[in-house]
Order: sequence, then C-alpha cells, then structure tokens
Amino acid sequence: MASASGAGLGFRYTAPSTAAPVVINENWVCCHECQKWRLLPFGKNPCDLPEEWVCCMLDWLHGMNRCSVSE
Ligand SMILES: [Zn+2]
Repeated sequence: MASASGAGLGFRYTAPSTAAPVVINENWVCCHECQKWRLLPFGKNPCDLPEEWVCCMLDWLHGMNRCSVSE
C-alpha cells in the first residue's frame, strides 16, 4: 500500500491573492448636444440625471457647464 508517495500530479500552487480588487466606479454622462463625456463626481448617480443630459446641466464643476469646454 505504498502508492502515490511522491505526488507528481502537477498540482499548481497559486499564490494567494488576498488583495481585494479595487473597483473604481466611475460614472460618465454623455452630453446630448456635443457628445462629450463628463465625469460624474463621486456619489452622483447617473440614474438621477435626465436621459437627454446636456453640459449646461452640469452643476458640480464651476465653469464647466458649457459644451465648449473640452472633455
Ligand atoms: Zn455638451
């Protein structure tokens, strides 16, 4: 009964990954008029925004609420 004494099964040891994956939930909204993408601030729910969102509705960054501002 001395079988399988040496393993050799090729069991691959994988390093334990204890680090939890960092998920950054970035929400972007696309302007309905200029098609530019605007990054929503943390906590801002895109569901709260109207479907046809435009840059002038941007109220979290001063001076950014216009379509002429670059993406
Ligand atoms: Zn726009």
